Amino acid sequence: MNDFTLISASDSSLSDHAFIGRHLIAGAWRDSADGATFDRSSPSHGALISRSAKGGEAETLAAIAAARRAFDAGDWAFSSGKARATLLNRVADLIDLERERIARIEVLESGKPIAQARAEIEGAADIWRYAAALARTIHGDSHNSLGADMLGLVLKEPIGVAAMITPWNFPFLIVSQKLPFALAAGCTAVVKPSELTPSTTVILGELLIEAGLPDGVCNIVLGYGDPVGTILSTHPDVDMVSFTGSTGVGKRIVAAAAGTLKKVSLELGGKNPQVIFPDADLDAAADAITFGVHFNAGECCNSGSRIIVHEDVAQVLTDKVVALSRKVPFGDPLDDRTQVGAIISDQHMAKIYGYVRDAQAAGAQVVLGGGELTVPGLDGRFYQPTVVAGVTPEMAIAREEVFGPVLSVLTFRTEEQAIALANDAAYGLSAGVWSRDVHTCLTFARRLRAGTVWTNTWMDGFSELPFGGVKESGLGRELGRYGIEEYLELKTVQMRVARGRANWVAG
Ligand code: NAD
Repeated sequence: MNDFTLISASDSSLSDHAFIGRHLIAGAWRDSADGATFDRSSPSHGALISRSAKGGEAETLAAIAAARRAFDAGDWAFSSGKARATLLNRVADLIDLERERIARIEVLESGKPIAQARAEIEGAADIWRYAAALARTIHGDSHNSLGADMLGLVLKEPIGVAAMITPWNFPFLIVSQKLPFALAAGCTAVVKPSELTPSTTVILGELLIEAGLPDGVCNIVLGYGDPVGTILSTHPDVDMVSFTGSTGVGKRIVAAAAGTLKKVSLELGGKNPQVIFPDADLDAAADAITFGVHFNAGECCNSGSRIIVHEDVAQVLTDKVVALSRKVPFGDPLDDRTQVGAIISDQHMAKIYGYVRDAQAAGAQVVLGGGELTVPGLDGRFYQPTVVAGVTPEMAIAREEVFGPVLSVLTFRTEEQAIALANDAAYGLSAGVWSRDVHTCLTFARRLRAGTVWTNTWMDGFSELPFGGVKESGLGRELGRYGIEEYLELKTVQMRVARGRANWVAG
């Protein structure tokens, strides 16, 4: 019954030494003042992968001070867009050169498949190049209709010191959705990667130095949300926090940032619906649904984890998705053929189990998967591609992020019902509609409450298009030309052009 396509271990001898990660502060690599470190073992192979300096108050304050000094000195903030673009392009070229090294460490720390990691790193280099081009386009407005004596200028200036806090599911890609835009804008930065996947951000730091980024313009502190993330969110010398992660932590950051009223931009979770009409190309839909839910083992903010399918085609579509899910090759993430890798941690595995078990207890049917799977030769955690039918809107599996390769199938009869079901979530990150009728597609594109709506496709990503969420999925946008705007602030300059006194005071 549960026959899956398994890729067993291709090379179980991880002979590399553990990657040693240090903080990057004011252009120098530093251990923690108290010598503390933390380790990361591979979720797929079990072996020790990295040992990183564990940041405390001393390192976080030193990194903030370095970023503040570098910003206030003005050399970076007032450098030309052309100079910043040249540097960002150099970083992109170095990312291309180092792709294999970055991809391998990303795989071993996160459990994602190597082919996918390579594609993400290629995508990241593209984003660095896109942001480089934007660095040369920053401009404001001039107003010459304010009367003969007055000229107005609206300048766009870098916001200052930007802190960036990133998650474990796309470590290199997500820091690349923030940092190049901040640098292009003229900001300085302090980056804190996830404690589960710190190493590729450290490699990025090496590349920034090699590219010639001035000391202190980008600082990296390794460690945990508490204390590093908390200090970054509360410190008065940090002007902005750009956060990607869970909605729960996003809310804590907003509360922490309120004390200094710093700007916060948030890329948070999703419970992304796809509505499938009977007139849709069901083969194309099944293919994209299978990809959308199992991609990155479902550990993806954009996971298409909730389908809302018309009653007339629910069975046939579910059968197609089940058949395709059996064929998805999963197992050893270091093998080029693998499409689904390991689950990030034991704690997370228990959470996935819980959602599926509770849905079953509430009356849903597990029609594929529903459990862990052992991959020969690997000491890791793998969850079976899973399809759960008969899900109803009040079940937790229909409302909350499972963050595993688990698809929930809900059904509808009328268009209004489908819209109501799709919008019935605290989240609003992305959504999709499948139909051959352009009117249906456009109606749903307008009425679904989400930052992105895909019609007859799922999860294509472009550096040119903005990405972000509504409702509890976030605040602000990354990527596209909007990506740089997040790091710019407006300044109004009013200039009196007439000679002599304005005669405010008579005589
Ligand atoms: P998480 O919220 O647990 O952690 C994210 C980061 O926040 C980590 O670096 C962590 O150390 C830090 N952190 C934890 N507590 C903190 C605190 N109190 N103050 C400041 N920083 C703190 O998220 P995760 O488990 O790493 O990532 C998964 C989540 O990220 C999912 O909800 C997923 O949907 C979301 N995500 C969203 C997007 C998007 O673009 N919308 C992209 C990827 C992931």
